[in-house]
Amino acid sequence: MVVTGRIYVPSAVEEGGAVVSMGCFSSQETALNVLRSFLKKSHQVSLERASIAAWEVDVVGNDGVTILSEYECRHCPVCQRTTFWIDVERFKAVCYGSACSAWIEESAVEANVIDCGWPPTQFAEQVESIDEAMRARRRIAARAEAAGLSATDERFTMDSF
Ligand SMILES: [Zn+2]
Repeated sequence: MVVTGRIYVPSAVEEGGAVVSMGCFSSQETALNVLRSFLKKSHQVSLERASIAAWEVDVVGNDGVTILSEYECRHCPVCQRTTFWIDVERFKAVCYGSACSAWIEESAVEANVIDCGWPPTQFAEQVESIDEAMRARRRIAARAEAAGLSATDERFTMDSF
């Protein structure tokens, strides 16, 4: 029998400070999957932050807890829903909204390069700053709007780019 001394706890904080518990899990991967499926619904519940913590079992006090990752909720620049989650430690953001998945991420290979993309159209590009990446994502939304559609409407294509 494997005895684990560590448990992984995903949680989210609602607007106003209420903490949403999602359970505790024996692996980080499971905790992350549970959190991810919860974040997909963040346009229905007003959430501000989310995190995954590792707790050492039988350790008293704050020494027993390590925050592994923390996320902040924003409006998605493409679909406008509050499903855009930013990893606060390393800049990495992805929209968990259905049919969107817009993402922005610091390049792992080149310094000062930001990769960003929008999977529904396989659209990806490299820009120099996070602001520029956000503006580029907003242009997708603007283009959809000009066509009288929402960016997540399947009739919307990016052919005109
Ligand atoms: Zn989105």
